[in-house]
Amino acid sequence: MNQRPNSLHASDIAHSMHPYTNMRAHEEKGPMIITRGDGARVFDDQGKEYIEALAGLWSVAVGFSETRLADAAYEQLKKLPYYHSFAHKAHEPSIRLAEKLAEMTPEGLNRVFFTNSGSEANDTVIKMAWFLNNGLGRPEKKKFLARNKGYHGITIASGSLTGLPSNHKDFDLPAIPVTHLTTPHYWRCANEGESEVAFTARLLKELEDTILAEGPETIAGFIGEPVMGAGGVMTPPVGYWPGVAEICAKYDILLVADEVINGFGRTGAPFGCQKYGFTPDILVTSKQLTSSYMPLAAIVVNDKVYNAIADNTAKLGTFGHGFTGSGHPVACAVGLENLAIIEENDLMGNAARLEPMFQDGLRKFADHPLVGEVRGVGLIAGVEMTKDRATKTAFEPAGAMATKVVALCAEEGLIVRNVYETVAFCPPLIVTEDDVAEILARFGRAMDKAL
Ligand code: PLP
Repeated sequence: MNQRPNSLHASDIAHSMHPYTNMRAHEEKGPMIITRGDGARVFDDQGKEYIEALAGLWSVAVGFSETRLADAAYEQLKKLPYYHSFAHKAHEPSIRLAEKLAEMTPEGLNRVFFTNSGSEANDTVIKMAWFLNNGLGRPEKKKFLARNKGYHGITIASGSLTGLPSNHKDFDLPAIPVTHLTTPHYWRCANEGESEVAFTARLLKELEDTILAEGPETIAGFIGEPVMGAGGVMTPPVGYWPGVAEICAKYDILLVADEVINGFGRTGAPFGCQKYGFTPDILVTSKQLTSSYMPLAAIVVNDKVYNAIADNTAKLGTFGHGFTGSGHPVACAVGLENLAIIEENDLMGNAARLEPMFQDGLRKFADHPLVGEVRGVGLIAGVEMTKDRATKTAFEPAGAMATKVVALCAEEGLIVRNVYETVAFCPPLIVTEDDVAEILARFGRAMDKAL
């Protein structure tokens, strides 16, 4: 047995394997250890204060010190720390949360299945679609359509839906049949001189052509984030989502809105699909559902999907799918309390109210010599770094400037995240005007240093 290293820092280097990390670089650099939170701020083990402008991982809506969530967890742990929902069993927190989600999500989405993570939720969506189509006697209807730069998780199936190179490389993905379509990002993907409307029309034509080429009878679902998050915060071009919804309906393809980041007010509307004017067959949520105080994700489906699945379970005798932690009572109790806090404090309204200040404030950086484009909606935004804005030439090596800016932001007491060429912002929904002003000021100082 190894001797225990004598500091947390050394122990981390000796024993931890970090997700999304160059592990050899980490051995040199070591961890940034966060020890406590207070509202929109966190503190490291040196006592340094940071505004957490990515809300952890796009998730901590109510901030980092909400004692009501701690109390809700503790009360549930004392009353019933664990139970499950397999084979007709049930408990109050998951019943109440399912009811609440059916009420909060758009009309028609009525049935809820719980998982522990967004990745498991999207795996479950794929399995639901396969199960349902087998039950309907169309076993060839199995493929998924997704988008380049879409992010849907990292398990073998959800990672296959994800359209980002670093999630595929050397993992042998995609491992299931997925076709990735053009990223709906006007600034980066439009042709020279192409209008936004024409760009949308081209993407919709690509979608329909792909369906016809592969055969509508082979395509089970289309999945997308209303606003793309981890691929670089891309808002959709005008008319895109209603167009996608129309084409999916025409060819009987399930439309899945991955709202793991978008859900619960992030875009200024309760759900991203409402912001962009479409209703999915399946809506996936996680992250802000519990503010990530506990791991939990929820898949909310419409009656058409539910009935097809339910009919097949009647035929087969069961839905042979579910996790030990599906609808965990402590996670659901925390989720219920979290949604109550969001509603009581009108945090979704807060995102809409602060949107102009936040988005306009960031757009002032559009003329900065290092910036190609600033984009976003509600309280989510991306600032894309570009060596040459006119030609949209990226810095080399890829992502280097965004990485540098993020490190300089940390020096200034601001946590943001580099996603490829883009610096991403997604602050807790509790932020105030003063917090937004401080985020913009700290970012400005970091950008000046980066020159
Ligand atoms: N879907 C989206 C849109 C996400 O942003 C994420 C995570 O960032 C996931 C799915 C995967 O969620 P998890 O990390 O909980 O597996």
